[in-house]
Amino acid sequence: MSNTEQNSLDRLKDGIRRFQTEVYPQHSSEYEYAATHPQTPHSLVITCSDSRIDIETVTGSKPGEIFVARNVGNIVPEYGTSGDGIAAVVEYAITALKVKHVVVCGHSDCGAMKALKAGGKPDGLPAVTNWLANGASAGDSNPELPALTEKNVLLQLEHLQTHPAVKKGLAEGTLELSGWVYDIATGDVRVHTSQSGKFEATLQGKGATAA
Ligand SMILES: [Zn+2]
Repeated sequence: MSNTEQNSLDRLKDGIRRFQTEVYPQHSSEYEYAATHPQTPHSLVITCSDSRIDIETVTGSKPGEIFVARNVGNIVPEYGTSGDGIAAVVEYAITALKVKHVVVCGHSDCGAMKALKAGGKPDGLPAVTNWLANGASAGDSNPELPALTEKNVLLQLEHLQTHPAVKKGLAEGTLELSGWVYDIATGDVRVHTSQSGKFEATLQGKGATAA
């Protein structure tokens, strides 16, 4: 094991010890409740793997409240194509856990969106290249990065609607979808719904619609 790996594991273990000695004791009843009751998350949030996104903190969610899937570029391949992992998450969240809402959340300064803007074939990253093909059409007509990020969120919401569980939930009126863009630097979250038809700031006076 290299020093770097050792240091990384030590950092993680330090974090676990802080959790166990400082965080857990203050919230032990919440954790004990969560562990002894079936999970009933109200929403599924699909966001990017980017290490700067702390989606539980951003949404004020406690353990048990949101089901989360993360991948490079917050991508949802069309049903039956290349994304069995994400398809299983969507199916399980909607059919078994009966979440009422699915969010696709993109973000500012996304490396995946930058790669798409540059043509979607990053050097030396064949798996990423294959994965990004699921977002390629968001880069059509070469939009600026903020617009591309929004277009990708809307594209993935379209893909989401090819999944049988989503189709069924929408048809029966038991499921809603929204698309978000989270701005890491400002904390703004702009939300797009089929009703609004545009990305709107969550907090009045913040996050003017980009692009
Ligand atoms: Zn990202």
